[in-house]
Amino acid sequence: MAHERGFLIAGNWKMNGQSADGVSLANNVAAGNAGRKAELLICPPATLLKTVADAVAGSGTVVGGQDCHAEASGAHTGDISAAMLADAGCGYVILGHSERRADHNEDDATVRAKSEAAHAAGLKAIICVGETETQRDAGDTLAVISAQVRGSIPAGATPANTVIAYEPVWAIGTGRTATPDQAQEVHAHIRAELAQSFGAAGLQNARVLYGGSMKPGNAADLLSQTDVDGGLIGGASLKAEDFLAIADAADALM
Ligand code: PEP
Repeated sequence: MAHERGFLIAGNWKMNGQSADGVSLANNVAAGNAGRKAELLICPPATLLKTVADAVAGSGTVVGGQDCHAEASGAHTGDISAAMLADAGCGYVILGHSERRADHNEDDATVRAKSEAAHAAGLKAIICVGETETQRDAGDTLAVISAQVRGSIPAGATPANTVIAYEPVWAIGTGRTATPDQAQEVHAHIRAELAQSFGAAGLQNARVLYGGSMKPGNAADLLSQTDVDGGLIGGASLKAEDFLAIADAADALM
C-alpha cells in the first residue's frame, strides 16, 4: 500500500562542505530529484545555504538550516535567526539535534523556543528526539521520548509546520542502526504523543523521520515500517549516490 503521508528524505550535512564540493553535491542531488515522489531536503552548513539554495532552485529540492536562534534579531554574536534562514532560501530547520543538545547544552525548553521562532519565520521545524544507550539499557526509552516530545513542541505546532525526527543517540554516526521493530515501536509512541499536541490530525498527518546510520542497505526495511515517514540522514547524505539510493527506496514504497 502506498505510504499516504509521503516520505521526507532529509540530508544533514553537519559541518561538512565548502563551495566547490557542496555545490557539486547539491547539483547531483537536484539532478536525481527529477520525477521523484519522495520530498528531498538538504541541510548544508550555514555558509553554503544561499549558494546551495540557488543551485537547486527549480529542482523541487528543498534546503534547510541545521539550527536557528530563538530570538528574531539582536546582540547574539555568531548566531543565525530563523528569518535569516528563510531569507537564504530555506524551507526547514533542524532543531534539537543530539549534537546540539550535547555540544551546546540545548534542553527541551530551548528547542521549543527555537521551534516557535522557526514557525514565526514561516519555516518547518524538524525537532529531534532520541534516547542514549544508557537510557535504552535502563528501559527508559519511551519515557525519555515522551518527555522530549512534550517539552520541545511549541504551542501552534501542527503537522504542516512540524516534523519529528527519532534519532537514537547510540545510532548516530556509529554504524549501528535501530532495528525496524525498535524504530517502529518508538515511532508509534511518538505518533500517539503527537495526538496530544495535534489532535486527530497528528495521528494521521504528522511525519516522523528515523535518523541513525540510515544507509542504502537498511533504508527499505526502516521505511517500510508503518510509522516511519522518512529519514534524517547524516553520513550517507554526503554522497549523492547513497542519498539518492535511500530516496529510491522511499519512492519504491509510495
Ligand atoms: C544525524 O546526525 O542526523 C544522523 C542520523 O547521522 P548518521 O546518519 O551519520 O548516523
